[in-house]
Amino acid sequence: MKYTGQVYRPPFEARSLLLQVTRGCSHNSCSFCTMYRDVPFGIESFEQIGEDLKEARELFPAARRVFLENGDAFCLSAERLARIAEMIHEYLPLTEIITMYASVLNIRDKTDAELKMLRDLGIDQLNVGVESGLDDALRYMNKGYTAAEAVRELKRLRSAGMDYAANVILGGAGSGRQRENAEATAALLNETRPYLVFTGTLHSEPGCPLHEDLRTGAFRENTFREYLEEEECLLENLKLQGCYFFGLHPSNVVQAYGVLDRDKEKLLGEVRRRKEELREVLDLQPLRGGEGAVLL
Ligand code: SF4
Repeated sequence: MKYTGQVYRPPFEARSLLLQVTRGCSHNSCSFCTMYRDVPFGIESFEQIGEDLKEARELFPAARRVFLENGDAFCLSAERLARIAEMIHEYLPLTEIITMYASVLNIRDKTDAELKMLRDLGIDQLNVGVESGLDDALRYMNKGYTAAEAVRELKRLRSAGMDYAANVILGGAGSGRQRENAEATAALLNETRPYLVFTGTLHSEPGCPLHEDLRTGAFRENTFREYLEEEECLLENLKLQGCYFFGLHPSNVVQAYGVLDRDKEKLLGEVRRRKEELREVLDLQPLRGGEGAVLL
């Protein structure tokens, strides 16, 4: 199997077959992201995809879930994605779900009929970096869409029969705006009903605008208290049934996992317990390690 550069996938795709169909990210300019800064965007050839699928048929003939690499593979045209899906079903006939990272912009570029056609070919449960429900936070992150546009496109996706997993960034609006960001993000999620909410906190590596803004103080990161208040407020405002809440990214101040709405009290209890545990450092900002891991 051929992969270019570092391979990224959501943690809950650990058991999926990873098939490269693009290199890098077609947007590659979110202010907090350095994942593909050194990888020029490119499209994998059908010949290479066929070679990889031949190898996968030998190594993983029982694959049921395929995750298409890289940063926003849903940027490919509907026609190209359809052909890739057909190739996957030909080589790996047990495949049930084909999924990938997708941006709101990638959805916008497809018609309703194309979305429905892709769903019929098994493309589903896309992983979308929604990030925030606040327009100015989205603008600062350079996502390229407003909250209203995200709602419109995600609703089109849902109407085509596709589920989606939402990535959201706690602290995405900066210090002092934890409630505002949590309420706006919860409203966006309540309206678009993801099957999974994946939370991480705002962090960056050298080489992106956010890193520079954090260094100069132009952007002030949340304190521990603000991160925990934001997560508490998000949980309190989410009105989703049967939705996984996946808060296990190493950058999170509290590690929490459960199913909404059933486990809401348990999740809120974990946030409050963590607040108590960190009571002496609540007004400090976290120290970070690799992948934004909270060291203290
Ligand atoms: S966050 Fe996603 S869409 Fe934005 S630059 Fe990184 S990989 Fe591309």
